[in-house]
Amino acid sequence: MSKKFRPATQLVRGGLTRSQHGETAEALFLTSGFVYDSAEQAEATFKNEIEHYQYSRFANPTLTMLEERLAALEGADLCRLMSTGMAAVHSTLLSTLKTGDRLVASRALFGSCHWIISTLLPRYGIVGEFVDGADLDQWKAALSRPATMVLLESPSNPMLELVDLPAVAKLAHAAGALVAVDNVFATPLLQRPIDLGADIVIYSTTKHMDGQGRTLGGAVLGPKQWVTETLMPFIRNTGPALSPFNAWVILKGLETLKLRVDQMCRNAAAVADFLSERAEIAKVLYPFRPDHPQHALAVKQMSGGGTLVTFDIQGGKEETFRFMNALRLVDISNNLGDSKSLATHPATTTHSRIGPEERARLGIGDGTVRLSVGLEDVADLIEDLAEALDAIGGAASARAAE
Ligand SMILES: *Cc1c(COP(=O)(O)O)cnc(C)c1O
Repeated sequence: MSKKFRPATQLVRGGLTRSQHGETAEALFLTSGFVYDSAEQAEATFKNEIEHYQYSRFANPTLTMLEERLAALEGADLCRLMSTGMAAVHSTLLSTLKTGDRLVASRALFGSCHWIISTLLPRYGIVGEFVDGADLDQWKAALSRPATMVLLESPSNPMLELVDLPAVAKLAHAAGALVAVDNVFATPLLQRPIDLGADIVIYSTTKHMDGQGRTLGGAVLGPKQWVTETLMPFIRNTGPALSPFNAWVILKGLETLKLRVDQMCRNAAAVADFLSERAEIAKVLYPFRPDHPQHALAVKQMSGGGTLVTFDIQGGKEETFRFMNALRLVDISNNLGDSKSLATHPATTTHSRIGPEERARLGIGDGTVRLSVGLEDVADLIEDLAEALDAIGGAASARAAE
C-alpha cells in the first residue's frame, strides 16, 4: 500500500498481503521454515537471486505485514521486529557500536537500557556517557566531541521529561552520531521522531501497540542502508526474532491503536486535572498541562499529551502505599499502555535498582506514582482515585486523633 494514506488507515490496512484464499484478516503463518520447489530454487534463494522466504529467524510473511505497517505509519524506510522491546534496544546498540566508540544517552532511560549502557557496553570497550535530557548545554558539551550514537527517551519514564529532539539531532549529526529515539511513551501517533530529525525509532510493542496485555515484542525502524547492512546481519545471526503468533496479535492490536490512544489521552488529561486540585497531591506531571516545566516544547513536538500521568503524594512511602492499596479499580502493576489503568510506585519497583542517589537526580521520590491511564470510564477512574486519596487523609486524621 502506498504511503499517502493517513495513520488511521495505515493502522488497519498497511502492509496487508492476502494469500490465494483471499482471507479478510491478516493470515497467521505459524511456521518456522519454508520449502523449495527444487534444489535450484533453494540455491537461487541463498544466492539472493530470487526473493523467497527461507527461515522465520530471517523473515516471515506475518512479520513482513507488521513491519510494512509500522514503517508506513512511522514514515521510515524499513522496520525489523524483535522478541521484546529490550531486544530491539540491544540489537540497535550492539549491531552499530564497537570497541572505542562513544554513545551519549539521556539519563532518564528505561531501567534495562540504563543497565546495557552502564554495565554491558563497557565490557566491550564502548563508552557510554549520560546527560540530563532536558539540559541542552549538557548535550552540547557531550556532543562537542565525535560520537557514534545518541540514545534518548522522550517523554521519559517515569518523570515525563522531554528532550528537544530537533536541537539534539542537529548536535548529534554534527558530532557524527546516529540518533535513536525510544518512542514508547509517545507512540507513533503523538510524536514523529524521524520528522524531528531522528534516524532510528525504537518501540516496545508490548505497550500501546498490543495494548491489551498479551504479548511481548519490539520494533526498530530506520534508514534502508543501516537496516540492511548493519541491523539485519546482526539479527539474522544472533536470533532475537519475534514469534509469528505475537506479530499477528500485534497486527490486530494496531487496528484499534488510534481509538485507544486518543481515548486514553483524553482520560489521562482529565485525571491529571482532577489530581492537580487535590490537597493530598504535591505535584502533577502531564506534558500537555501548562504547569509542566517543558509544556512549550511538548506542544511543539507532540500532538497529544500521552497516556501517562506522574504525580507526587504529600508525605512519603507510607502515605503512597496507603493510597495504592486503597485503589479498587486501578491495578498495581509495572506495565503501561494497557487498556486497564495501572499504577506503579517506581522507587520500590521499576527504579529500585538504580539507588537513592540516581533516583533523587531524576526526581523520583518515595511519594512518586506513575499512572498509566486506560480505557475505563473516566468518571469511574476519578471516583476510584478520589476514594483512595480520601483513604490517606482518613488514616492520617485517625492517627492525629489518637
Ligand atoms: C517497556 C519498555 C521497554 C522494554 O520493552 P520490553 O518489551 O518490556 O522488553 C523499553 N523502553 C521503554 C520506554 C519501555 O517502556
